[in-house]
Amino acid sequence: MTNKKCLVCAAPLSPFISYGRMPIANGFLPRDKFAEEYFFEMRVAYCPSCHMVQLIEQPEREMMFNENYAFFSGTSTTMTAHFQRFAQDVMRDYLGSDPFVVEIGSNDGIMLKNFAEKKIRHLGIEPSANVAKVASERGIKTVSRFFEKDLAREILAEHGQADAFLAANAMCHIPYAHSIAEGVKILLKPEGVMIFEDPYLGDVLEKTSYDQIYDEHVFLFSVQSISQLFARHGLEVIDVKAQGTHGGSMRYFIAHKGARPISASVGAQIKKEKKLGLDEPKTYDKFRRNCERSRDELKKLLLDLKKQGRRVAGYAATSKSTTITNYCGITTDLVEFISDTTPIKQGKFSPGVHIPVLPYEKFKEKYPDYALLFGWNHFEEITRKEQGFRDAGGKWILYVPKVHVLN
Ligand SMILES: [Zn+2]
Repeated sequence: MTNKKCLVCAAPLSPFISYGRMPIANGFLPRDKFAEEYFFEMRVAYCPSCHMVQLIEQPEREMMFNENYAFFSGTSTTMTAHFQRFAQDVMRDYLGSDPFVVEIGSNDGIMLKNFAEKKIRHLGIEPSANVAKVASERGIKTVSRFFEKDLAREILAEHGQADAFLAANAMCHIPYAHSIAEGVKILLKPEGVMIFEDPYLGDVLEKTSYDQIYDEHVFLFSVQSISQLFARHGLEVIDVKAQGTHGGSMRYFIAHKGARPISASVGAQIKKEKKLGLDEPKTYDKFRRNCERSRDELKKLLLDLKKQGRRVAGYAATSKSTTITNYCGITTDLVEFISDTTPIKQGKFSPGVHIPVLPYEKFKEKYPDYALLFGWNHFEEITRKEQGFRDAGGKWILYVPKVHVLN
């Protein structure tokens, strides 16, 4: 699917970077599937009219979210705690009598389990069947579908209106954002609130964390672009709260227009975005130059280490790593293997550049000299766990916000 026009407002787009030929970020694959691997050109554009940053081309959704989907949220302790707090905030502030909570992209139920435990009526909507099955087995009510207006009507008929409609790292995956907004409009109680969070454009630009850009992330949101999107459906942003997750995210609170007071934080954040130049083309030019510099520096560092005969391994076979390895041209001659604890990825190869993914034990058995930290957003959790690696003389390579070796 290639968009020449903005997915939100249909204005002509201004492309500002191409990351080149990209595979499916989560498409870890066995050797016998190399020949049929799917690639697309990953180009990103800015909308001069509504300021939404978006992919120009995105693979079909069934290619990304299917029974082979390899990402399970519940594998990170930091994220488990984060979603527990998220759920507690929702329970405290937004639930009425006989409450009903819906979440889209509910994954393995990492958020909804908090509601299920309190016997609160809930429904998870998770298109990746294997992940949805895990949630259902844990007692979290889940349907394996894509959420759109029609499904919203079905849910309404069966369960009634929702107090809270949640999404975490899911909204930015969905190109048909208008259909979601219409569904939300149908499903929310008059005082109901949609609360969602996604990686924040301001953080990506400030930190040059371009690895937040991959096939699944069709949008990079800002408060300005989100306001414009929901305003078209009689909904408005009533609050925003910055989050530390995913290297910098934003939580947006959306309600029916006029139904709830608007927090001062909304205006304050928009002011900040204007100061950051999120609505100016030159900001995106600068971001492109920063991405190119980051790529060149990382490649040079890895080449230098190779010349010195050092062993480098990747740490955490994240979706984000696919953008880094493919854009920078990092292959097995620079990074020996990627260590990962997710069984479904082990024994497979990373998308595009085909670096072997090995169980974590291989990393621990014989530490490399350097570890390229693809899970940099979990830096604290990981470095705490891996004190042994550092004690053995191992060094971390980081590339956000700048390429550097942690001494
Ligand atoms: Zn637009």
